[in-house]
Amino acid sequence: MRIGGIDLGGTKIEARLFEGAGAETVKVHRVPTPTDSFDGLMSALIGQVDWLRAESGDPSLPVGVAIPGVIDPATGESFASNIPASGHSIPAALKAHFGEAIPVVNDCMAFAFSEAQGGAGDGHRVVMGLILGTGVGGGVSIDGAIPPRHAGLAVEVGHIGMSYRAIERHGLPMFRCGCGRLGCVENYISGTGFKNIAEWKTGTRHGAEALGTEPALDEVLDIWADIAGDVLDTIQLALDPDCIVIGGGLSNLPGVADRLTTSLEALRLGSARMPLITVAQHGDSSGARGAALMGLKA
Ligand SMILES: [Zn+2]
Repeated sequence: MRIGGIDLGGTKIEARLFEGAGAETVKVHRVPTPTDSFDGLMSALIGQVDWLRAESGDPSLPVGVAIPGVIDPATGESFASNIPASGHSIPAALKAHFGEAIPVVNDCMAFAFSEAQGGAGDGHRVVMGLILGTGVGGGVSIDGAIPPRHAGLAVEVGHIGMSYRAIERHGLPMFRCGCGRLGCVENYISGTGFKNIAEWKTGTRHGAEALGTEPALDEVLDIWADIAGDVLDTIQLALDPDCIVIGGGLSNLPGVADRLTTSLEALRLGSARMPLITVAQHGDSSGARGAALMGLKA
């Protein structure tokens, strides 16, 4: 069995051809993301669908596309800050060109969908994907499907307000978010958030990669892990997942799953049953892999 997935990112459009029951990558093709116009973006994307079908020798190869933005389920229109697609419908443009529906999904949803099937969340029913990278992204897979949504915002956790309990516990300042609002979670628990806390605590904008080089950063890590527990508590109360899969750059911190488990255990409501907190298995291929698996299902 072969399937194709495309991860449309802000700098590159990556097509991956997958094979076998475990959906392992067999070929990858990357092109730069056109940033000047929606038409340019669509030609490059269509070129990647064509590449996958030519490379697989299957003109009707199932293909799915993951994009970095919110997709309105009713209109297919995107809201995306780093690709020229805001106000446009990528699903409609693909259908107009190919005469068939090609699934287009938010990349964090694709991540959760991928990890729920043959990944770190395999065998769990409600799998929350939490990406802690430059920003914070969230996705969810329930019983092997992406749940229906109203505005496409489900588990868009990066822009939930950071809990006042967490702010107050550490005397943290309110950081301004790229979305224009104050105090979004993304500004505290992403890689950028780590730097914000490091700068506030030490005067220097150290990233998590500098851990071990300066003792004060251990304290920054303690604060980061503690307040990330508040975000996990919000996720548990809102969604009650049985598995939370962590991805993105900060998922590489040593022992991160254990640290976050300890943080949530300390904060959770009463003795609520804990979800499994674990690190993603499919790394950089997760967006394309999840999209490909959705293409197969479509
Ligand atoms: Zn925000």
